[in-house]
Amino acid sequence: MSNQELTPLFNLDAMTQKVANSNGLTGQDILSVDQFDRDNLSFIFDRAREMREMVQRVGSADLLKGYVLACLFYEPSTRTSSSFIAAMERLGGSVIPITQGVQFSSVSKGETLADTVRTLEQYADAIVLRHPEIGSAKLAADYASVPVLNAGDGPGEHPTQALLDLFTIREELGRVDGLKVAMVGDLRYGRTVQSLTKLLLHFDVSLRFVSPEILRLPLTTMNHVIDAGVDVRETHDVADVIKNADVLYVTRVQKERFSDLAQYEEVKNYYEITTELLEKAKDKMVVMHPLPRVGEIHYNVDKDPRAAYFRQVQNGMYIRMALLAAVLGRA
Ligand code: ASP
Repeated sequence: MSNQELTPLFNLDAMTQKVANSNGLTGQDILSVDQFDRDNLSFIFDRAREMREMVQRVGSADLLKGYVLACLFYEPSTRTSSSFIAAMERLGGSVIPITQGVQFSSVSKGETLADTVRTLEQYADAIVLRHPEIGSAKLAADYASVPVLNAGDGPGEHPTQALLDLFTIREELGRVDGLKVAMVGDLRYGRTVQSLTKLLLHFDVSLRFVSPEILRLPLTTMNHVIDAGVDVRETHDVADVIKNADVLYVTRVQKERFSDLAQYEEVKNYYEITTELLEKAKDKMVVMHPLPRVGEIHYNVDKDPRAAYFRQVQNGMYIRMALLAAVLGRA
């Protein structure tokens, strides 16, 4: 579709003007959910809704025409990498994709992260980074002068996933305040769990953490929960939470983070969400998962209208469009 058709539907100047304000996000790195409060969350969510409307009506726009994004992935990715690429392309920008494995880049020759980002910033206006070590995005941001967006730093954080998770909850259930959110599975190594938990603390929520003993939520995140004073409980048994949960946020056991694979084998099939289990759940609730799933949610659950994980995937693109537009604002 031609961009001419955009003019009557969208006031791109107004959109750009808003982006220029960008609630303080212009030129910023996105390293942690700690950078977000209710105010800039609602700013990003409003922009994400505009992006959704634009994509559904006309497919693409020229908002980021001439901008280049470097996607640098030291760990596997399907959704995060492709949605950042799609987000950039739907806004008219282009991408340097180092997403098929850094073994094909100079990283395999021993180049440091610092030098790699200082190279990429010569070509690109922003860098998306996924890396197996906690703190890697912060390190990259210390060296780069362009915005760095953390696409997952080991078991640390995954802020853009948490934004899309929270956005999905808001869009599916119409609110966040007052909800009972149960997180199930690998709460220890799951970075999406750390980030989403911290974001949810801006709201009046009840939290239930469901995991085997060895995969309990780390103390650092639990301390945030306790400090926030929200209603919280831990359990091993998903049956304890299923009746009351508004959100069942299921996660994969993160095999790649285990040093002892025998331990992984013990817990890998700890939870399986089945249609029988969901019969006990509320009619209006959502089952979410950051994906990939490796058996935690049975395939026949997908037909249930409460299964929101593929809608969650789509929201990822709108949120990343909104974020890219914000950090690349015409400041
Ligand atoms: N895709 C998510 C992440 O990168 C969840 C997962 O891998 O289990 O953290």
